[in-house]
Amino acid sequence: MKILPVMVGSIQIGGGAPVRIQSMTKCRTENSKAVIKEIKQLEKVNCEIIRIAIPNHTAVKSIPKIKDKIKIPLVADIHFDYKLALESMKLGADKIRINPGNIGADYKVKEIIKAARDKKIPIRVGVNAGSISKTILAKYKNPNVQAILESIKQNLKIFEREDYHNIVLSAKTANPKETIEVYQKLAELYPYPLHIGVTEAGLPFEGAIRNTTALAILLNQGIGDTIRVSLTGPSILEVKAAQEILSSLGKRKFGPTLISCPTCGRCEVDLIKIASQVNKKLASITEPIKVAVMGCVVNGPGEAKTADYGIACGKKSGVIFKHGNIVKKCREQDLVSELFRLIKGS
Ligand code: SF4
Repeated sequence: MKILPVMVGSIQIGGGAPVRIQSMTKCRTENSKAVIKEIKQLEKVNCEIIRIAIPNHTAVKSIPKIKDKIKIPLVADIHFDYKLALESMKLGADKIRINPGNIGADYKVKEIIKAARDKKIPIRVGVNAGSISKTILAKYKNPNVQAILESIKQNLKIFEREDYHNIVLSAKTANPKETIEVYQKLAELYPYPLHIGVTEAGLPFEGAIRNTTALAILLNQGIGDTIRVSLTGPSILEVKAAQEILSSLGKRKFGPTLISCPTCGRCEVDLIKIASQVNKKLASITEPIKVAVMGCVVNGPGEAKTADYGIACGKKSGVIFKHGNIVKKCREQDLVSELFRLIKGS
C-alpha cells in the first residue's frame, strides 16, 4: 500500500522518505534548560525528531523556549487533557501525539483535529497495549493483537469522519512478537505512516535486543516509517541503537562501521581493549568508513582487507591495512594510534 507523506516541521515521514529516527527526552519538561541541553546532544548524533511529554500547563509553556533553541522538529506528547494539545499547537509544536481513547468526549478530539488542520500539524494516533478501553478489554479479556487492532480502528473513526488524514499511527506493545503481528496488520489496513517500536522494552541491553527483534523483521519487510528504540536509559542510546538497526539493514548510513572479531584462544593481544579504543576514536569521524579489528591471522587479514581500514593482530603486534593493502606492521600498544594516523591522514 502506498504510504501517505506527513510533514513534521521540515522532516517528511512516509511517502518514500528514509526511515526517520526519533527519541523522547527524559528530563522534566518544566525544566526547559535541561530539555534543551538533552535535545542539543541528540541533534549532534543525528536524531531527527524529538518528543517531549506535556503532562500539565506548566510544561506546555516550555514549548516556545525549547523551540527557540533547537533545530529538529518537536512533538508534544499529550494524554487526558485536550486543552494541552490545543495549547501545544498554539505554542509551536510541530506534531502532537495523542491516544484519542483517553482524551474523552468526541468534541474534544474534534477540537484537536480542527486546530491541527488549521495549522497543518500532523497527529500521531498512538495506542499502547496498556491503554486499551475497558469495553475492548472486556471483549478480548487481555490486550492482545486483536484488541490493539480494534482499539486503533475505533480511535481512527473520528479522524475518518472528519476527513483528517495527516496522521501517523502507532500501536506498541512490550512484546516483540505481538508488535510484529500488530504492525504487519496495520501496514495491510491503513495508508498512514507507521511509527514503530517496542514499548517498555527495558534496560539498554535487553531493550535494544527486544526492539531489534521486532524492528529488524518489520523494517526488512518495508514496514515502518519512523522508529523509536525505547530504553530505560539515556536518550542518546535510543538514537544510537536506532541508527545501528537501520545501518545493519542497509536502510541508512550513519558514520563509520566497526567490525571486530569476538576473539578466542588464538588471540595474542588484548583485542577487547583495542576494539574499544578504536570504537571510541571513531565517534569523532563522520564519514561512513568500514574499519575492521581482527584478533589473529586465521580470519584477520582476510576480513581486514574487505574494510576500508583494518588491523589484523599477531603476537603482541599487528599489521594495518588500507583498502586491502598492508601499510604498516607495529607493536600492540601502537596499533590504535597508527591506525588513526592513517585514517585522518587520508
Ligand atoms: S579472528 Fe582469530 S582471534 Fe578472532 S575469533 Fe577469529 S580465530 Fe579467534
